[in-house]
Amino acid sequence: MPTPAKKVPVRMCTGCREHKPKKELIRVVRSPEGEISIDFTGKKSGRGAYLCANEQCLAKARKTKQLERALETAIPDEVYEKLEHQLAQGSESV
Ligand SMILES: [Zn+2]
Repeated sequence: MPTPAKKVPVRMCTGCREHKPKKELIRVVRSPEGEISIDFTGKKSGRGAYLCANEQCLAKARKTKQLERALETAIPDEVYEKLEHQLAQGSESV
């Protein structure tokens, strides 16, 4: 793979821990109210963590608790389920 000449902003996926261009990743954000959601626009305020837009990386981040660590909060199962749901339908609607 050729290295791109231009410098693109890169973030680490909390699932596979690979560094990828920011626009290829989805942002999971914890709002000031403590609500966790997927931010497809990159504009929500709050603390963010990044994931590849696939369910494997979300599952990995869940298993290793990397997402909880990155967001500095406990994430209940129902929130992961919501994220999986958003992930499954989100990329098609954007
Ligand atoms: Zn990943």
